[in-house]
Amino acid sequence: MSSPSGVLATGSAGDTRPAPVVSIRGVSKRFATTGDDVVALTDVDLAVAPGEFVCLIGPSGCGKSTLLNLVGGLLPPTAGRVEIGGRPVTGPPSEVGMMFQKPVLLEWRTVRENVLLPVEARNGRKGAKAARGRADELLGRVGLGEFEERYPNELSGGMQQRAAICRMLIGDPDVLLLDEPFGALDELTRERLNLELAKIVSGTDKAALLVTHNIIEGVFLSDRVVVMSARPGRIVDVVDVPLPRPRCLEVVTTPEFTALVARVRELLELGHDDDGKDGDR
Ligand code: ADP
Ligand code: MG
Repeated sequence: MSSPSGVLATGSAGDTRPAPVVSIRGVSKRFATTGDDVVALTDVDLAVAPGEFVCLIGPSGCGKSTLLNLVGGLLPPTAGRVEIGGRPVTGPPSEVGMMFQKPVLLEWRTVRENVLLPVEARNGRKGAKAARGRADELLGRVGLGEFEERYPNELSGGMQQRAAICRMLIGDPDVLLLDEPFGALDELTRERLNLELAKIVSGTDKAALLVTHNIIEGVFLSDRVVVMSARPGRIVDVVDVPLPRPRCLEVVTTPEFTALVARVRELLELGHDDDGKDGDR
């Protein structure tokens, strides 16, 4: 067990690593319910550097979504501190873009209008109008170049998620929070979209925190894999993936990759509590 590997040292002499863009320190989250309180997370420490791709993996109900929601400012922690860019998170920070399993597009708005929604919310209609060119450029990059004026119900599930990628990127966020973003899609579409997303993010300073159930996917996409235990969720260990990014699919057949997958699986089993009490929310 080496929890300090999940934390970037800050300020120690000779430390050349950049300051983390996401810093989670001593974070716990308890939900009050009509029955017993639910302790979703206990004592989580994690720091993510600019440009780093980190995946969270763990059994259902272990607090992965809760952790992303804390970083995204959608929930306050019960204890501990969450910071983005060195500032405490008190609500959704402008530096953050989020994606969920469902694309959640507004059906009465065109694809372009959906992509521009975060800009409109922040900078009004004028701001959204000024960002139209950028929206169309992003849509072109994900293969939706001719669908700007279409409505979500005219698009396949995969295309809707491509539009959601653009909506996430429109504000040029420093931090991407990805909660099983392609989990509802078929395997091939998911694989393709994961690759596209990895390509878009690589070579930028954007940090990504991705929740996935898929060990191979997690290792393939990440610089580090954070393995969490069953409820109350905590970090079991962090596995470094020292393979250069972006990666080609062939890497999955290498002994190094296979060993990393086996290591993550072993840690998952260690933290797994299979008494069936965990919900699948
Ligand atoms: P995961 O995403 O890892 O599947 P979640 O973060 O969604 O897990 O949930 C962690 C635990 O917290 C679960 O037991 C879930 O039932 C509980 N939980 C999540 N949100 C709430 C809430 N708003 N109120 C009460 N309990 C919640
Ligand atoms: Mg979840």
